[in-house]
Amino acid sequence: MSTRSFNPPVRTLMGPGPSDVHPRVLAAMARPTIGHLDPAFVAMMEETKALLQYAFQTQNAFTFPVSGPGSAGMETCFVNLVEPGDKVIVCQNGVFGARMKENVVRAGGEPIVVEDNLGEPIDPGKVEDALKKHRGVTLVAFVHAETSTGVESDAQALARIAHQHGAATIVDAVTSLGGSPLSVDAWGLDAVYSGSQKCLSCTPGLSPVTFSERAAEKIKKRKSPVQSWFLDLTLVMGYWGTGKRTYHHTAPINPLYGLHEALVLLKEEGLEASWARHRQQYEALRAGIEAMGLSYLVKEPHRLPQLNAIRVPEGVDDATVRSKLLHDYNIEIGGGLGALAGKLWRIGLMGHGANPKNVMSCLGALDAVLAELRAPIQEGAAVTAAQKAFA
Ligand SMILES: *Cc1c(COP(=O)(O)O)cnc(C)c1O
Repeated sequence: MSTRSFNPPVRTLMGPGPSDVHPRVLAAMARPTIGHLDPAFVAMMEETKALLQYAFQTQNAFTFPVSGPGSAGMETCFVNLVEPGDKVIVCQNGVFGARMKENVVRAGGEPIVVEDNLGEPIDPGKVEDALKKHRGVTLVAFVHAETSTGVESDAQALARIAHQHGAATIVDAVTSLGGSPLSVDAWGLDAVYSGSQKCLSCTPGLSPVTFSERAAEKIKKRKSPVQSWFLDLTLVMGYWGTGKRTYHHTAPINPLYGLHEALVLLKEEGLEASWARHRQQYEALRAGIEAMGLSYLVKEPHRLPQLNAIRVPEGVDDATVRSKLLHDYNIEIGGGLGALAGKLWRIGLMGHGANPKNVMSCLGALDAVLAELRAPIQEGAAVTAAQKAFA
C-alpha cells in the first residue's frame, strides 16, 4: 500500500458530472476551518441561503444546502413529503426517475409510474390522464433535466397540472440549476433539489434544496414522524433556519466555503448570462458534432445545452473512445446508462467547464480518436465548424 500523498492527474471533466471546478472554489475550500456555530460561519450560512434563493429564483425561506450529494437532496424531499400510504405520481424517462420511484416505495408511499421513452421529455398529457384516473394523488415527482439522456421536460406545465389536481411537486433540478432556465417561484415548483457538482462549478457533496409554502405546510401537517433522523427537515432547520441555532450535525465547513464561492461567482456573472453561456457553448459543440456526421439522441427543442447525448456511430466501440480521450487527452466524457450503455456518449458542458477551450479541445480530440479508429466520420471538419459557430 502506498503511503504517499495522493496527487490526482489534472483532467478536463466533460462528463455528466462532476464538472470542472472553478479555481476560486478550490482556493476558498483551503481556507482555515472554523466552528460550525462561529458567528463568522453563521454569517456565511445566511449569505449562502440568500445566494441559493437567487440561483433558484425563489423567495422560499426553506432554502439551504443539504450536507450530502444530490441523492441526499432527493431523499430529503421524499422522506419529508411522502407519508405512508400517499399516492405519488413518478414520471420516468430515464435513470433518475427510476430512483425517485424507489424513494417513494421506501418512504411507504404508493408510486404511480408514468413512463416516456428514453430521450423524450415527460408528456404533460399523460400526467394529466394519470391524475384524472387516480384520485387523491398528493405529489407529482419528475426530473427537470434528465442527465442520463440529455432531455429537458417542461417543469412549469407539469407543476400547473399537478396543482390543478391538488398535488404538490418534487422536482429534480440537479443538472439544471445554473445551467439552463429554472425559475422556482414563477413556475410554482414545491420541493426542488439540486447538486453542487454539475452546473455550479463546485465540488461534489452538497445538495441545495428549496421548499415552497405548500411543501412546508405539508411537512408540518404530517401524522407520522419522518423516518430518517438525519434528513428530518424539522430537526435540520434548527440549525439552518433563522433564530437561535442549535447543533444538529457538524456542517461540512470547508465544502460550504466552496459552495458559497461558487454562488458568488454565479451572482457575479448573472444567472441569465450563465444560461446564455451554456447555450452558446452547446451551439458551437453541436456545429462540430454535426459537421463530423454524428447525431444527437434528443430532438430540438428538448435538448439540454449542458448535457449532450450523442449516438455512438455503428461499428465504433464506445469504451475504447472514452478510454483514449482520457489517457491520450486527459478529457473525461460519459457513456450511456442502463439501456443506453454502449450506445451514447454524454458530453457535459457544465458550469465553469462550459467554455470555448473545452468545446474546441473536446471536438479536436474526438475527431483525432475517431480518425485513428477509422470511424465513418467527416475527418477534420469539427473544429472549423465550431470556430465558425463561435464567430
Ligand atoms: C447527478 C444527478 C443526481 C445525483 O446526484 P449525486 O450528487 O450523484 O448524488 C440526481 N439527479 C440527476 C438528474 C443527476 O444528474
